[in-house]
Amino acid sequence: MEEFLVSARKYRPLTFDTVVGQKALTTTLKNAIASKKLAHAYLFCGPRGVGKTTCARIFAKAINCLSPTSGGDACGQCESCKAFDEGRSMSIHELDAASNNSVEDIRELIKQVQIPPQVGRYKVFIIDEVHMLSASAFNAFLKTLEEPPSNVIFILATTEKHKILPTILSRCQVFDFARITPRDIIAHLQGVAGREGVETQEEALELIAEKADGGMRDALSIFDQMVSFTGGKLSYESVCNNLNVLGTAYYLRMTDLILEKKTTDCMLLFNEILQKGFDGGNFIGGMASHFRDLLLCKDERTITLLERSEQTRTQLRQQAQRCPVKMLYKAIQLCNECDQSYRTSRNKRLQVEVCLILLSQLQEEGDASAGGLRPSHVIKPIFGQQAPGAQPVQVQATTTPATSPSPTPQPAAQQSPQQTDRKAPKLKTISGFGPSLRLQPEKADKATSLPKSPVPKQMHTPLDTDSLRMAWMEIIQKMPREEVAMAQRMRDMQPQVKNADCICITVNNNQVKQELQSLQHRILPFLQKRLGNDFLSIEIEVADTQVTQQFYTKEGIYKLMTEANPTMKLFVEQFKLELD
Ligand SMILES: [Zn+2]
Repeated sequence: MEEFLVSARKYRPLTFDTVVGQKALTTTLKNAIASKKLAHAYLFCGPRGVGKTTCARIFAKAINCLSPTSGGDACGQCESCKAFDEGRSMSIHELDAASNNSVEDIRELIKQVQIPPQVGRYKVFIIDEVHMLSASAFNAFLKTLEEPPSNVIFILATTEKHKILPTILSRCQVFDFARITPRDIIAHLQGVAGREGVETQEEALELIAEKADGGMRDALSIFDQMVSFTGGKLSYESVCNNLNVLGTAYYLRMTDLILEKKTTDCMLLFNEILQKGFDGGNFIGGMASHFRDLLLCKDERTITLLERSEQTRTQLRQQAQRCPVKMLYKAIQLCNECDQSYRTSRNKRLQVEVCLILLSQLQEEGDASAGGLRPSHVIKPIFGQQAPGAQPVQVQATTTPATSPSPTPQPAAQQSPQQTDRKAPKLKTISGFGPSLRLQPEKADKATSLPKSPVPKQMHTPLDTDSLRMAWMEIIQKMPREEVAMAQRMRDMQPQVKNADCICITVNNNQVKQELQSLQHRILPFLQKRLGNDFLSIEIEVADTQVTQQFYTKEGIYKLMTEANPTMKLFVEQFKLELD
C-alpha cells in the first residue's frame, strides 16, 4: 500500500533550482560551493515555511558532495550524496533546538564536532530554531562557534533573528529569506496539482496563497486539506467556503455597489459577510487593501506591484477604470479611519455601516465637486435616494462639465422647471437644518433667526434610539480633523431618547458639557434634519461621578486618565495598545 505523504514533504525541493522564490539566495549559496569559498557558520532567517531548513539540507548535501556540478549542486550519485539521501550520513547532523535546547544537548553536539568526518570534507551541523536554545546552552555553543575546527560548518536557522545574540550574529554569514510571493506559490501549487491530477482554478490557488501568507509549507498543507475536503476539485467556490476567507470577489462586488451608489445593497452584502462569520474589522481592512490595489491599477508602472493571479488583475484593472483617483484616495482614508476606530467602538457593526454609507456617497461628492455646485461632507438620505434627492446626478447630465463651474450667466435657469426645483432644497439647507457640519456659527445663527414664514412644513417624526445612534455616528465621522479629540469623546457618549422630541446626552464632567454645548449649533440642526424632527432638543447632563467605585479597576483608571488627558486616548488608539 502506498504511504500517504503530505505534499509539503513529498514535494520538498531536493536541489537549489527547485527551491521556490529564493532565487538570489540560492544563487549565492551555489556560487559559494562552486568557488569553494565556504564560511564556518551560516544563519538562515525568515518567516516559517519559506524554505530555510530545506535550503540548509540542500546546502549541506552539496557541501559534502564528492563531485558537485559546476553549478554548485550535489551530484546525487556519490557515496556522500547516497548516504545523505538514505538518512545515514555521519557527516551531516541536524538538531532541532525547539525540542533539544538544554546544555546537555549542546554538549553532545560539541562532542560530535570534535570527531572528524568519515566521508566528505566537512561535518555540517544544522541547528533549527536556534533562538530556542537556553541561555546556558547558547553560551556553551558560543565557544565552539568562536573557534570551530576547520572541517566544521554550522548552518543555523531561526524565525526570530532579533533573539539571536549579537556575538553569534557577527560570526555568521546571514541570509534573510523573504516571504514567497503569491505568484510563486500559485505557480508551484499548479505544478503540484498537475502531478497529483487535481483540477484547480487559479483563483482558488490564489485564495490558498493569500491564506498562507508567503509560507510555502503552509500553502501546501492547506492545499492538501482542500484536496481532501473537495474531493480533488479546487474551485474558487469550494475553497472559499472551506477556507472561510473573504475572497477578492466580495470586495469587487462591494466596490461595484459603492460605484453604483446602491447604499442599501451595500448594507445587505455586509450583512451577508457578517453572517458568514467574518469579522467586520477584517472586512474593512480588506476594503482598504482593495482600494489600494485599484489605485495601483491606475498606473501601468505600479500594476506590476500587484501580486495577483492574471484573472484577478484583469478584474481589478477593469474596476479601476471606473474609479476616479480622488475617490480612491478618499475611500482608502475612510476605510483607514474606520479601521482605527473599530476596535474601540461600542457598536462595531454600525461603525462599518456608516463607513459604507460614506463610501457609497463618495462618487456623488466627486461628481458634484467637479461641477463645484455642492458643499462637501453632506450626508444624503440613504433610502429612496432616487426620488427627489438625486439632484447632483441631473446636474451632471444637464450641464456640461466645462461650463458648469461658472455660475454667473445663467438666465436659462429660470426656463427649466427642473432647475428651479433644484434651487429650492438648496435654500432650505442653508436656513436652519443645514446638514453641513462646517457651517460657521454666525451663519447658522443668522439662518435660524430668519423669519419663519417661508418654511413650508415642519417635520415631526418621533425619535427612536437606533436612528439617533446612527445619526450620532455620522456626526462623529463628519467632524473636521482639527476636532478629532472631541470626536473621540463623542464616541463614548450614548445619546438617549428622553421623550418624543428630546434627547439626552450624559457627559462625564462640566468641561465636556461646555464643549458639547459649543457644538450644539452644528449638532442640533443636523439631528433635526437627519431624524426628521424640527422640534428636537438636546439636554446635556453631567453624570454622577462614581470615582471611588471605578478607581480600582483598570478600565476605571484608564477612563480617569483619558478624561484628564484626552490625547492619551488618541495615543492608545494610534498605537493600538490594549488594557492588559
Ligand atoms: Zn555527490
